[in-house]
Amino acid sequence: MTTTITETHGVDPTPTPLALLLLGREADPNSERGVDCPGDLPPASDPNLVERARAAKAALGDRVFILGHHYQRDEVIEFADVTGDSFKLARDAAARPEAEYIVFCGVHFMAESADILTGEKQQVVLPDLAAGCSMADMATAEQVAECWDVLTDAGIADVTVPVSYMNSSADIKAFTGRHGGTICTSSNAQRALEWAFEQGQKVLFLPDQHLGRNTAVRDLGLSLDDCVLYNPHKPNGGLTVEQLRDAKMILWRGHCSVHGRFSLDSVADVRERIPGVTVLVHPECKHEVVAAADMVGSTEYIIKALDAAEPGSKWAIGTELNLVRRLAKAHPDKEIVFLDRTVCFCSTMNRIDLPHLVWALESLVEGRVPNVITVDPETEKYAKAALDRMLALP
Ligand code: SF4
Repeated sequence: MTTTITETHGVDPTPTPLALLLLGREADPNSERGVDCPGDLPPASDPNLVERARAAKAALGDRVFILGHHYQRDEVIEFADVTGDSFKLARDAAARPEAEYIVFCGVHFMAESADILTGEKQQVVLPDLAAGCSMADMATAEQVAECWDVLTDAGIADVTVPVSYMNSSADIKAFTGRHGGTICTSSNAQRALEWAFEQGQKVLFLPDQHLGRNTAVRDLGLSLDDCVLYNPHKPNGGLTVEQLRDAKMILWRGHCSVHGRFSLDSVADVRERIPGVTVLVHPECKHEVVAAADMVGSTEYIIKALDAAEPGSKWAIGTELNLVRRLAKAHPDKEIVFLDRTVCFCSTMNRIDLPHLVWALESLVEGRVPNVITVDPETEKYAKAALDRMLALP
């Protein structure tokens, strides 16, 4: 367990940890899922929430810096000092050492990364500790250690370099750092893989199989046969020693539940509905969706592509719905639609709402620091080594 959850509100000590978890009031040590916020959350129906958030933010002044991930609700983004993807936000926080409190409107692994990259005196607050990430949950420290043992027994650990997506827990980042690997984002995955193949013969890519496969095949020219899928729920990952020895990319069986929903049918359907549409998707989508799309890129890439698009152009975007709606609103001169007909929010990200933000800010004003996310020094040291390798990528 690397993350300490600090609550200054009272928590009933009687129930067992499991009972508390089920009640949404305790941490799951094996998971990215956190806990709910105990205490007096303002009701969502409170007509003064906007005023309360403004007043608390003004009272805190430069002592607080609010980060808003691109997938957050509008009501939260309105109070963000900066918006961005997880890595940009962590760096923005590190560039504001005067801010005592970093209120991270994102999910748990992002707050951990911010804690790793910010100064000792800065405290990172996650307004709702239940805001986890299902993808990050799909690779636990125990599972990844077991996988490394399998690679060691197969005689390939020495020639394998771990590359972990930013969307992973601090434990997984630390594993990566300990074994000479690097972190990557969806913007620099190609450079990270090229670097890794200069250091070794194989890559263990964690935890998003789709980003790993898409980058290896689309950007590095590897074949699908060069990739194998390691299933942590099967003995030896469900792979033979020969399969492991023959593979160049060992992909962890994880995925994003939001981007994983887009299908070939979504692409075919939107092309039929909107003739001339450009389909632009995130590389966390399945390989067949990425192959059928016209353009592929990270959230920052998607934002820039739409900024640069011609008036009157038509776009179907395969990423989280809050961002797509905001982009459609920001570009009324272009037709921008969500790629799928069904609603596709990131449900855990959406747990951070205005009541939780108000609760966190008012707690800070009152001198209580709620939901502090801290990573232990040993984990931080190795996770930072992996992050530093990413920053040093050519
Ligand atoms: S969009 Fe996907 S990867 Fe991002 S936080 Fe949500 S579940 Fe995790």
